[in-house]
This record gives sequence, C-alpha cells and structure tokens, in this order.
Amino acid sequence: MPRSSAVHLSHFLASLLLLLAGLAAAYVRELNVFFTSLFNVLPTLVLLLGGSYCAVYRRQRELFLMVTVYIAYFLLSTQTDYYRDHGKVREDAAVVFHLCCLLLPLLFGVYAAWQERTHLFQDMVARFAVLLAVGSVALGLEQSYPESLLGWLAEIRWPALHGAWMSLIQLSYPVFFASFVLLLVQYWRNPRPLHAAQLTGLVGLFWMLPKTFILPFTLNIMCSQVMLMIAAAVAHEAYQMAFRDELTGLPGRRALNERMQRLGRNYVLAMTDVDHFKKFNDTHGHDVGDQVLRLVASKLAKVSGGGRAYRYGGEEFAVVFAGKSLEECMPHLEVIREVIANYHIQLRNQDNRPQDDQQGRQRRAGSGASSVSVTISIGVAERQPEQRTPEEVLKSADQALYAAKGAGRNCVVAAGQTRRGAIRTGEAVG
Ligand code: GH3
Ligand code: MG
Ligand code: MG
Repeated sequence: MPRSSAVHLSHFLASLLLLLAGLAAAYVRELNVFFTSLFNVLPTLVLLLGGSYCAVYRRQRELFLMVTVYIAYFLLSTQTDYYRDHGKVREDAAVVFHLCCLLLPLLFGVYAAWQERTHLFQDMVARFAVLLAVGSVALGLEQSYPESLLGWLAEIRWPALHGAWMSLIQLSYPVFFASFVLLLVQYWRNPRPLHAAQLTGLVGLFWMLPKTFILPFTLNIMCSQVMLMIAAAVAHEAYQMAFRDELTGLPGRRALNERMQRLGRNYVLAMTDVDHFKKFNDTHGHDVGDQVLRLVASKLAKVSGGGRAYRYGGEEFAVVFAGKSLEECMPHLEVIREVIANYHIQLRNQDNRPQDDQQGRQRRAGSGASSVSVTISIGVAERQPEQRTPEEVLKSADQALYAAKGAGRNCVVAAGQTRRGAIRTGEAVG
C-alpha cells in the first residue's frame, strides 16, 4: 500500500548531497597531487570501510550493492588506466564497457530490490551465487566469442526508440529504466533512507557511464559516492532505529534523554498519558489501539508554542518546551488536549466497506456508525531554581499528571496546582 505521508525529503538529503558533490568534483579538470592520489584510493577505501560497516550490521543487501559497484569500477578503471597510459583503448575495451553498461544496472536493480528474508547465511550464499553465475557467464562469453558478443551487445534493436543522445548501447537503457521503476516503486511502497539512496545511486551510475572515458576520475568519484550513499543510508537507518519510535514515528525515549541534557536553565516539561487506554484496548483490540496511538502522536507532533513531542513509552508522551515559561506553554497544551478530545476516529469494518462515499456517509449517519474518541491527561512542570537535573523536573511533571488523573482526567495540571484548579481547567475548555 502506498504510504505517501511517509515519503520524506530527509531520506534523499545525504545521497543528493553526495551526488552533487560527485558531479561537481568530476568536472574539476586541474587536480593537484593530493586529490589525484585521494581519488585513486577512494573507491577501495570506501568499499573496505563501508563494506565492513555493512558486515558488522549484517546488511548483506547493501554489502552486495557495494561489491557490485566496486567490481564495475575495477573492470572499467583497468580500461581507463590503459587508455590514460597508452593514449588508445585496450583491445577488449568495447566489450568490457558494454557488458558493464548492461550488467551494472541489472545487478544493482536486482540486489537493491532483493529483500533480506531468509536465513542470513542462505541469503549470502544466494546473493553470491547470482554474482558468480552472472560473472562467469559474462566472462565465458567474452573469452570464447568476443566478436559475436560485441556484435550482439552493440546492435540497435529498436531503431525507432534510438535517440541521438544515447551514447551507451541501446540495451542498457531499458535495463536502467526497469531498475529505476522497480526502485521507485520500492521506495513508494516502503519509504526509507536506503531505498532513497539506491534510487539516487542508480541515477549517479547512469550519469557516470557515458563519461567514463571522457572526464578523468569520473569513475573513481561516482563509484565512491554511490558506495558512500549506501553506507550513509545504513548509518541513517541505524540512527533512526535508536532514536525514533517505530509505531508513531516520533522521537523516542533515547532522543528525549539526549535532548534533556541540553535544555539550559529555563524550560517546561509536560507528561501526557492517554486516559483509560487499557480499557480501550480491551474493547476495540490492540490494532485499533495502535492506530489511536499513532493519531495521538500525530496531533502531539503538531503542538504549537515551540513544543517538541517524544514517545516516552507505552501510551505516555513527553513534550519539551525549551526556553519557555509555564504561562507561555499552558494555552498550547490546552489546545492539544482539546483537539484530541474532540477528534472522532471512524472505525470501519474492513469486510463490510461501503461501495461508494455516499453510501459510507449514509451508513455513518445511521445507527451503524461507529466512532471512537480518546482523551489525554497532561501534567506540566516548569524548571524551578532548586531543581538541578531535568529528571527532577520530569518527576514533577509526572506527579502533576498523577494529579490530573485524580482530578477526573482529560485536563492539564501544572506542578503545584491544586486539585480544584485542575478540575476547573478541564471543564472550562472541554
Ligand atoms: P489511566 O487513565 O489511568 O492512564 O488508565 P490506563 O488504562 O491508560 O493506564 P495503564 O497505564 O494501566 O494502561 C496503559 C495501557 O496502554 C496498557 C497497554 O495495554 C496499553 N499500551 C501500552 N503500549 C501500547 C502500544 O504500543 N499499543 C497499544 N495498542 N497499547 C499499548
Ligand atoms: Mg500509562
Ligand atoms: Mg493511560
């Protein structure tokens, strides 16, 4: 199912920057000795560092993607080195280059779309077998029938589809196109940094191949950048796993702990808790409970007044207002409490969905409509001069939350506020 809401520019940021840096570096004509030496060792260095990084995290898909790019780099750089040293191309240059133009996008697409599903070792053997099979068939044909293979590769099969701008063999374009569409669909269905990096990496390779013999170091630079994109995506995802809550997408407890260490002197912390959520789960099921948590999180994420929401754990969320006073924050917390309390979530029986919108509206208006709503209680605490650590402030917010529960729930209570005051706050707005 498409999840357009999960598509994020941040998934592409690192890889697009690497792509742009690669494009810019490739066009620099006069390189000093330092950069010449750097670009000579860069692909191997990136493979060794990025490859071991992927191996440590047991990311085989990414490891094989890097190996594929590196093999293409190695084969083509042998040719470009010869060309640079002798001023002419090697005998087998055309067939090797055309094979790379065909097999690089093919293997890149296959490995990029091949999800890790089976046992780790079996998965590695299967991936290795594909690489070995494709490599040996290509090598066997190249050694035994170089002329016929070259003819077959270079042949223009669809003259009507051949554009003057096409400098690679014609077969390469449908393979690039098919891989691109495959990776685009994969990103659309499951938007994550790795899938974004794979798409951008394929674009980088597509740009690189025609320039291989024209721009010096294009090959070294772009292959390094594509491998870096993959490694950066692995690092990005590892960061997300550690700091983001998977269910709600909000930053998690670890991110909150880190934020709390950098809060300065003035700040306000709020603890929110969904009311009677255990009963809600018992009545509607855990799945609906999860949906409601996502919804509550999405509303809390939009809290105004400079607040930042975190999933503290279970159905509890923390909101941090850095550099703010209690008076400044209270109205924003009241608004968010009210927004959640007034939001009616439509529950639909999946097996009995109406055929069209009008039917659906009629059904919802009738007696069969089932909508649910939840409320949250909020405890707030402003840092007092005698409080030394943010944990103490959080504890005060927690005590205030406890008071809010005691005051009948669906209300905001500030640390030190009386019970009667709390009841009035909830009733006045609710
Ligand atoms: P109160 O108003 O006093 O907060 O009552 P409560 O029932 O919400 O309080 P309690 O803390 O006892 O219950 C929390 C419940 O939240 C227990 C658990 O079933 C539910 N819960 C915690 N995490 C999740 C989750 O990730 N998904 C779902 N669906 N439920 C969760
Ligand atoms: Mg709770
Ligand atoms: Mg609760």
